[in-house]
Parts: sequence; structure tokens; C-alpha cells
Amino acid sequence: MKKIISILFIAVYLVSCSTVPITGRKRMNFVSDSQVLPMSFAQYKGFLAKNKLSTNARMTNEVKSVGARISKAVDKFMRANGMKAEADRYRWEFNLVEDKQLNAWCMPGGKVVFYTGIMPVCDNVNGIAAVMGHEVAHAFAKHGQERMSSAQIQQLGGLAVALGTMKKDPKTAQMWNMAYGVGSKLGMLAYSRTHETEADKLGMVFMIMAGYDPKEAVNVWIRMSQMTKGANKPPEFLSTHPSNQRRIQTLRAFLPEAKRLAEKYNRSK
Ligand SMILES: [Zn+2]
Repeated sequence: MKKIISILFIAVYLVSCSTVPITGRKRMNFVSDSQVLPMSFAQYKGFLAKNKLSTNARMTNEVKSVGARISKAVDKFMRANGMKAEADRYRWEFNLVEDKQLNAWCMPGGKVVFYTGIMPVCDNVNGIAAVMGHEVAHAFAKHGQERMSSAQIQQLGGLAVALGTMKKDPKTAQMWNMAYGVGSKLGMLAYSRTHETEADKLGMVFMIMAGYDPKEAVNVWIRMSQMTKGANKPPEFLSTHPSNQRRIQTLRAFLPEAKRLAEKYNRSK
């Protein structure tokens, strides 16, 4: 009996284990695109209906045009690296929402929101590209799905089941927001540091592929440090992220490798 159980375990593990492209990290993902994408598109639409879009036309256009260029780079990478079917399923969209939070996120299938609160941290188009690259990288690497696949979230009631039936209850919405970093529930995530470092690296490759200045990724985190210093309490998501200092070091050290990779992927047809 024990043997059968362990064989079953290995089988489930092999089926649901895959590798993150570019970084090569092994990940668990029990949730398929066909389950996640309809939910993602519905949640995104619902979020936009409930929140106010920014009326700042200049900033909105910057977010949309940077998003278009970054997504083109990601699309190019996917099509050149055996991910054509996945690329076809993306429905890229970029919106700037009126909200003081220092946050931005990307749901599966390329649904991006920037909050106006993060725009001073971005400061310029290269800064927007750094944050955009990072958020898109979370979606590209399927970090949210991995979070859903974690035992922690499974115990909360099985989001995968809810996804399959498109159940729309408050609990499902809460788990969804936790997995994708909408709102401030990010503090509960177990995978945070690994995911953040991975998104920093992938994001840097994508922003270089799209023709932006990668040094600005470092400056974004320097500004983030300065702008959150002296605040009574740092935003909740910052406390689970790697420290800004560590992040800046990692990004600086990764820069030559990111340039090499971006050049290689931009050459591929
Ligand atoms: Zn992140």
C-alpha cells in the first residue's frame, strides 16, 4: 500500500512539475491555463469595473506604450522558444488605476494594472519598464499558479476546484487576490522571496529586449527605499520582499548576464 501511494505521489509530481523558462527553476503547478485564464479575464474585468481609471492621459499612455513594447518582447521570446500555443492565449492589456498604493500586478494571460501610487517610484519610462518587466515576469513564470498549488492555499479551500466551476464567492476572490498580489494580502505568501528575485531577473531581460535602460531597475529600488523610509510602517508587501538593498545588489550583479540573454533572445527568430 505504501508503495502504491509513493508511486502515485511521484506520478502526480512528474505531471505537475515543470521548469521556469530562462531561469530553469523547477516549479509545481497543478492549475492549467484552461482553468486559470477564463477566471483571470473575468477577475480583471470585474476589478476595472469597481476601480477608477486614472484621468492623467500622459501617464496612462506611458503605461500602455511601455506595456506594448515589453509584451512584444515576451511574445517574441515565447514564439521562439516552443511556447507558441501559450503566446496565442495571451490577451495583453495595460491600465493605470487611481489608487495611492505602491503597487502594480499582472494576472495570467497578460492583464496588467499599475496604481498611480507607484508612478513616482517609476519616475520615467525606463522606470515604468522596470516595474512592467517585473510584473509581467511574475505572470510569465506563473508564480500565482504556483502559489495556488502550494499546500497553504490548497488548504484554504481548493481554489483549483473553484476555478474549474468558476465559482464566484468572496473566498474564491480572496484567494485569487492573494495569489496575484491584488490588494495587500501579499504578506501571507510563502514563496515571496524566490519569486521576487526571479521576477527581478526575468524583468530585466525583458526590459533590455524591449530597448529600455536596465540601470533604471536599480534606480527604481533606490527610489523605493527613499520613498518608504520614515513612513510609520512600510507597505505590507515590502516586508516580505527581499530587502531593497539586497535587491539592488542582485540586479547590479545580474546586469551583464541579462544583457547577454536579451541579445541572444533578440537574435532568435
Ligand atoms: Zn513582485
